Amino acid sequence: MDALVLHSVSISFENKRVLENVSFSVGLGEIVALLGPSGCGKSTTLAIIAGLFEPDQGEVYWKGHSLRGTPSHQRNFGLMFQDLALFPHLNVFENIAFGLRVRNFSPHQIQQRVKEMLELVNLTGFEGRDVTSLSGGEMQRVALARALAPQPELLMLDEPLASLDRTLRDRLALELRQILRHMNQTAIYVTHDQEEAFMVADRVIVMDKGRIEQIGTPQEIYHQPASPFVARFLGMKNFVAGEIIRDKGERWLIMPIGRMPYPSEPEGKGIVLIRPEGARVNGKGDLRIEGRVLQKVFRGVNCLVEIQWGEQRLSFSIPCSEKIPKEGEVLSLAIPAQAIHFFRD
Ligand code: ADP
Ligand code: MG
Repeated sequence: MDALVLHSVSISFENKRVLENVSFSVGLGEIVALLGPSGCGKSTTLAIIAGLFEPDQGEVYWKGHSLRGTPSHQRNFGLMFQDLALFPHLNVFENIAFGLRVRNFSPHQIQQRVKEMLELVNLTGFEGRDVTSLSGGEMQRVALARALAPQPELLMLDEPLASLDRTLRDRLALELRQILRHMNQTAIYVTHDQEEAFMVADRVIVMDKGRIEQIGTPQEIYHQPASPFVARFLGMKNFVAGEIIRDKGERWLIMPIGRMPYPSEPEGKGIVLIRPEGARVNGKGDLRIEGRVLQKVFRGVNCLVEIQWGEQRLSFSIPCSEKIPKEGEVLSLAIPAQAIHFFRD
């Protein structure tokens, strides 16, 4: 069942379109990530859902009812920000209790709920701690406990881990996911980091310039990016010009160097993504690439190999167990059809 539905939401600030026809839904108990570069409209989307702005056009529904006119404090949605601003003058207990006091919970209920929340985020015994004495990770967990304590129907997290270093971020992202799952919490998780989005979310919504580029599971988005923007945003770098032509009754994808059968698309010009994985040295493939090795970097199971292919520089992730020639030597790669995506202009 869909809990939240955005239907064709648009908003402008000072005559500048910030969101354009944004439509998506979030299921009950589902974790959805809003992923996109800075300035694409992620926080504005959350602000509209929270009721801080009314959209110029479109509608937001919660469990089938339009939220138009429902003030923010009656929506029972929770927000957690990156610069989450724990109250520095309050200890851990009082920070978590804050939202409960506002909602007139009894002292007994507050005791009980804060205790549960501290257990949930693995900070039992931290009640009396000064929040300024906590590590970055501990602060994030207190902020999460504070956001979850009033049992919001929908929790929105706006780049909650952006200020932390990579290792801590990865660990907390997994912890966060576990906690949200455990609570069966309906949540929207905003981030500009695709790895984080993939780790935390059931489904990912990729945004650019106020529009949705793609909605899908992490697997769908990774394996079938809907546009060159999405592929680039996921860190893919191998793009070449391409054209589908018909030759002797068959369709071919023509690239600056090389061609391959491409039966699934009508004729036209576009851009071709060559995925970094799947290439094999001297193997069998649908496209053969030969180029001089510019760089070969050991990465563990796979090696990152950059080659010069005509005018292009292309990078591949190849199992290090394969016979990869030295830098400066010629490498012949076989690329399977699944690694090639044609995007029409
Ligand atoms: P994100 O969270 O994806 O980084 P935002 O939603 O914060 O992006 O902002 C999207 C765009 O809207 C930006 O260009 C930003 O400058 C603009 N914007 C956001 N809020 C306001 C506002 N209150 N007034 C004017 N412009 C705004
Ligand atoms: Mg933002």
